[in-house]
Amino acid sequence: MIETSESLNQKPLTETPSLPTPLQPLERLQWNYWWSWTPDGAGVFRDLDTEIWDECEHNPRVLLERVSEYRLAEMATDPAYLARVRTLAAQFDDYVNATESLAARWANGATPITPEHPAAYFCAEYGVHNSLPLYSGGLGVLAGDHLKSASDLGLPLVAVGLLYHYGYFRQRINREGWQEEFYGETDPGQLPLHQIKAADGTPLFVAVLIRERIVRARIWRADIGRVALYLLDTNVAENQETDRWVTGHLYGGDRETRIVQEMLLGIGGVRLLRTLGIQPAVYHLNEGHSAFLTLELARELIQSQGLNFAAAASQVRERCVFTTHTPVAAGNDEFDVSLLSASFGSTYEQQLGLTHEEFIALGRVSPENPSEPYGLTPLAIRMCRSTNGVSRKHGEVSRALWLKLFPEHTVAQVPITHVTNGVHAPTWIAPLLISLYEKHVGPNWTQQLREPEMWAAAVNRIPDEELWAAHLLLKERLVAFIRQRSFQARLNRSDAAQYTEAARHMFEPGVLTIGFARRVAGYKRWNLLLKDPERLLSIINNAERPVQFVFAGKAHPQDQGAKLILQEVARWETTAGVGDRSVFLQNYDHEIARHLVQSVDVWLNVPRRPLEASGTSGEKVALNGGLNLSVLDGWWLEGYDGTNGFAIGNETPNLGDADADAADAESLYRMLEEQVAPRYYERDELGLPRKWIAMMKSSIATLLPEFNSDRMVEEYARRIYSGAA
Ligand SMILES: *Cc1c(COP(=O)(O)O)cnc(C)c1O
Repeated sequence: MIETSESLNQKPLTETPSLPTPLQPLERLQWNYWWSWTPDGAGVFRDLDTEIWDECEHNPRVLLERVSEYRLAEMATDPAYLARVRTLAAQFDDYVNATESLAARWANGATPITPEHPAAYFCAEYGVHNSLPLYSGGLGVLAGDHLKSASDLGLPLVAVGLLYHYGYFRQRINREGWQEEFYGETDPGQLPLHQIKAADGTPLFVAVLIRERIVRARIWRADIGRVALYLLDTNVAENQETDRWVTGHLYGGDRETRIVQEMLLGIGGVRLLRTLGIQPAVYHLNEGHSAFLTLELARELIQSQGLNFAAAASQVRERCVFTTHTPVAAGNDEFDVSLLSASFGSTYEQQLGLTHEEFIALGRVSPENPSEPYGLTPLAIRMCRSTNGVSRKHGEVSRALWLKLFPEHTVAQVPITHVTNGVHAPTWIAPLLISLYEKHVGPNWTQQLREPEMWAAAVNRIPDEELWAAHLLLKERLVAFIRQRSFQARLNRSDAAQYTEAARHMFEPGVLTIGFARRVAGYKRWNLLLKDPERLLSIINNAERPVQFVFAGKAHPQDQGAKLILQEVARWETTAGVGDRSVFLQNYDHEIARHLVQSVDVWLNVPRRPLEASGTSGEKVALNGGLNLSVLDGWWLEGYDGTNGFAIGNETPNLGDADADAADAESLYRMLEEQVAPRYYERDELGLPRKWIAMMKSSIATLLPEFNSDRMVEEYARRIYSGAA
């Protein structure tokens, strides 16, 4: 395990200093992440002290603790600032006060979800905001977006996860282009996290028997608008040292760490809800990591009603739904049976009234096969009444993948459906564009998304000049961001002075800018673009139609192959001839993603079909009028219509990997040379790329109504949670 912990915020926050009276609303605003997706929410905090705001990774609690007394006094006497604070606070109060009336909308029989019986959402990671580093990538960010949309829609929902003491690793790229990992410490005392206590003020704990020891976890609550996110944390003095590390690193360490985390999430998560008196109507397992929760629900029924396991399981099934995110068998969580046995001991299977063989069989496709590992996906599919993939194609792929669990069915009959992923519009759309949507579509523009034709007509009324001007301003911001981040990275690496200084002038706002940021995993084919370096050089250095590339992404710390690919891309920027036309931004996170998706002209995605379950980063780009240039896989297979972006390759080539790679690389280069760059640089007498802007509008008009997380959460609520699927 990599152990260079660099604590970013060393000083503990002992008590919140009292704010000057007119600034007091900031005290309650800082405790709810609602501010992070509300226009001017970040601005109100940032303008207290820009420098501290950046240093503390946009964490209001640290900001308010550190900002000087003088600065607070100054802002407390600034009428313009105070008006902003009052507006924000009033919006927040309205938001919270509307909770009951919104919940009533859901309780009218369309779903079983009520405030008394909410949906319980379980996930191993949550990407709510950069200052809460409990996510590694797409799954977590999707979960964060799910909570925000549930909140905006007033859907009664509680979420359960783990509070990782070190979160996910942070990435540094050294001078050789090699990825180095380090960890920042997550101090709950510095975050807007409430520790859950009993009425008498003593902290509440849940306990789970793991590795034959009682492991205790305290409970934290983060408020995501109207949604409570409960987080379990084993880093307490009552636990043995090893057990304190159960919630040490997100996906960190070995298989054993993984299974004990999953026991805590599933079993501890249900006990957490019981401790708080919460009786969910439905449990949503977002990916298989939380699948043990189904066993805990069965155990409860066996204990309280004296049922046998089969009877209990059929009741559990009525209340549980499962979303799978993995399109390959190897990507599913599996454990050696010996590890499972050691982690659970024998108590749990006895409480379920099962023999050891019966217990193991729950996670096997073929129970009688002694060499088959224990899989959380088979367990989840067996124990849930509904399973869904995350795009239409992924639904199809999942039915074929799990046919083996339904030997009496044909592929088409396998009971796995799909709900295509979406992203949270207020989080991912640039405020500048939101103001354009408000101006030309109306202040209630999000309502119009329900009427796609009206929405499209309204988007087409946005004047080309205004949309293009807003996009150019966002690109200028991106270029400034790239220069600042690159300068800082070179400085920290002690690069040559001249090279470091050159970062201040790299990139040009007027040049066609293509973004490529995602996990460095084999199927994402990072090196496809570099297949023919000479041809790529001629594309980026075309005299009339230059192109620049911005890259970001992390490789799994133990994946040497991925690190080599990352190195190839990171070093490309220092290759002769590349000049200023390529940059690798280190430490891809929520913040970098926001900058990229709001500002690039084109988002490139070249997964090996059909391995992109959905993908969501391209959706974020589309909502901002960026154009996708992507292989037809995942969400893009549903989104692409010939007018709203570009497709690479064809839909279903019947080729081996090497041939498919060669064909797709050729298609990618041709698209760049013949379609993307010419279209971008074709200008009218006013300097406007009219055809390009038409595609931007088409992207916003056709994709925003469909690929946002309000649509996704509604679909979960009405089709999946309600059992109508
Ligand atoms: C949206 C997002 C992702 C997921 O993007 P993919 O398209 O699935 O690669 C990953 N990481 C961050 C930080 C994101 O914001």
